[in-house]
Amino acid sequence: MPYVRTTGIVLRCTDFSETSQVAALLTPDMGQVHVLAKGSRRPRKDGSVPLDLINHCDLVIAAKGAGQLHILAEYQTKENFPGIHANLQRIAAALYADELCLAFTSENAEDGPLFGLLLELLRGLNRGEDRDWRLLQFTARALDVLGSGPMAEHCAHCGGLLQGETRFTPAAGGALCGDCSAGYPAAFPISRGALAILGRLAAREGPTQATVRLSERQIQEIRRAFSEQIQYHLGRPLRTERLIWKELATPH
Ligand SMILES: [Zn+2]
Repeated sequence: MPYVRTTGIVLRCTDFSETSQVAALLTPDMGQVHVLAKGSRRPRKDGSVPLDLINHCDLVIAAKGAGQLHILAEYQTKENFPGIHANLQRIAAALYADELCLAFTSENAEDGPLFGLLLELLRGLNRGEDRDWRLLQFTARALDVLGSGPMAEHCAHCGGLLQGETRFTPAAGGALCGDCSAGYPAAFPISRGALAILGRLAAREGPTQATVRLSERQIQEIRRAFSEQIQYHLGRPLRTERLIWKELATPH
């Protein structure tokens, strides 16, 4: 049984027995892995604690075949993000990102880049950075890495400029110009300002919070676009979405 030394963020963990846990972890080199952590709930001499949601840990995995339940031979918590745990809004944001990773990744090295995005988000939230901005940026980049990002620079139907009464629907692949939106009755109205930001959010050299001030309306528009995009690709909404969105009215 090969041993793999890596690092991971706990996406989900459940008690398996009085002393053990089963966990899903997102790693940079294996994607999402599922492990059995024998004895992780037992008090340990080094004072380390059981696996816990969103913790970032060093791992030694005794790897079984791909897609099987691996054995977690050793782990050590590196970061436990106290700044997130102290604030309900930040916990909700972390759980949302967690669920997105759980739903969209599998045991596949190609899903590894999501690990870096999730870690960057958790560190930003832990430092107390703007939650909404961080969450929108994470969602944009995550969907982009997964190949499920929306088209927002041009009309997704005709490829032309986004002119007239712009709308958005994942069924078309993203933004629609005024002329094309007539063909998509389910598309919702979205401002060109929101689309301009949405189109650049995923880029590394894209806008930063210091250079762009999002209005409350633009935040809602972009959130709705991501929400519909995720629901379209996943076939259902993320369960944690209502934790993030409940304080906001649906834009019209
Ligand atoms: Zn068009």
